[in-house]
Amino acid sequence: MNSEELFKISKNIIPGGVNSPVRAFEPYPFFVKEAKGSHILDIDGNDYVDHCLAYGPILLGHSDEDVMNDVYNQMQIGTAYGAPSENELKLAQEVIDRVPCAEMVRFVNSGTEATMAAIRLARGFTGKNKIVKFEGAYHGAHDYVLVKSGSGAACLPDSAGIPESTTQNTLSVPFNDVEALTQLIKEEGENIACIIVEPVMGNIGCVEPTVKYLKFLREITEENGIVLIFDEVITGFRLSHGGAQEYYGIKPDLVTFAKVLGGGFPIGAYAGRKEIMELIAPNGPVYQAGTFSGNPISIQAGLSTLKKLDYPFYGELSRKGDLLRNNISDIVEDLKLDLQVVGLSSMFQIYFNPDTVLNYEIAKRSDVKRFLVYFRDLLKNGVFIPPSQFECNFISGAHSEEDLIKTSEAIENALKLAWDL
Ligand SMILES: *Cc1c(COP(=O)(O)O)cnc(C)c1O
Repeated sequence: MNSEELFKISKNIIPGGVNSPVRAFEPYPFFVKEAKGSHILDIDGNDYVDHCLAYGPILLGHSDEDVMNDVYNQMQIGTAYGAPSENELKLAQEVIDRVPCAEMVRFVNSGTEATMAAIRLARGFTGKNKIVKFEGAYHGAHDYVLVKSGSGAACLPDSAGIPESTTQNTLSVPFNDVEALTQLIKEEGENIACIIVEPVMGNIGCVEPTVKYLKFLREITEENGIVLIFDEVITGFRLSHGGAQEYYGIKPDLVTFAKVLGGGFPIGAYAGRKEIMELIAPNGPVYQAGTFSGNPISIQAGLSTLKKLDYPFYGELSRKGDLLRNNISDIVEDLKLDLQVVGLSSMFQIYFNPDTVLNYEIAKRSDVKRFLVYFRDLLKNGVFIPPSQFECNFISGAHSEEDLIKTSEAIENALKLAWDL
């Protein structure tokens, strides 16, 4: 059977035919046969350079041989224990050694779980209820953070099935806007437990903080007794050795991880100041638990992956990212297109937008119709990116210069098609 036929069947037995919404695209998503290194192959015989990379987890490339060997060995001696094992300490120590704010670490199973637990912890620590997130920021699929991005006053849920009473304590403001947050804290500061932020917004494309913004966040939270949470589910172990907080030199109180930390397997973690982390059960009164938390497979995959992510690795990855972004910028300039080529390190995107994208409001004005023409043409020419203007594209350590040249050529082609040139 081919992808089209499988999707037809899938739609009848799996809602929308997929197990996570963004994977569905028109007319049907390709079904994967296998993925190796920088490439992903579908069952219809196509081979793509993969810049989706599972939406972020894959940093060494698919099925890195060293990691797979270690995981295979671990599989022979157990896959879930329900009791501690030494590797959990090793991975926790590795996180602590790399990440400036991490003094203690608790492992969970996904980014969603990590942010849910970190927000509960911030509330438990401060005794306050309100939380602040940024418009367009994604912190997973749990009730407290699925809040309509738009007007800061309206804390309406983004999804059916979430009571308004659940989200009435979730406030949102535009990213990179000092005034909006200053005003909100003036009004609500004493009721705010935490501000949760993606230091680089990776779920509306790729939006960097302005030079002073993260510093401003650190100062205003400190002054008002608000816990600052960096959601580094994308940036953690991807942007640099110690994540965005090392890259930008700003230390939050708590941090959440997932994606890259699992080396291709499901994991999540939250970490931060000891004084706060010690409130987690069974030590303290903030409950959080998980059957598969710290499972030996994901932990081993994470350990084996981090072992390979040293400073030279990140230097080389950044060099590849710069090469690709420069190529794309040259193409955009030659074609005289008014587009925004954005990104840093191994993250990149093109905004089909004439304006510099600083926040969700501006990102939303992008030309998504043209983007979809561009996406489909890339796919046709063997390059897989996420099917949305509002996702980030990635590169991995496994991407060769040949891959990046192929990607650049496909992008040139796709831009010409999208703009009728
Ligand atoms: C992907 C993502 C999450 C959710 O992680 P899951 O493992 O999909 O639950 C949370 N925060 C950010 C910033 C993410 O990109």
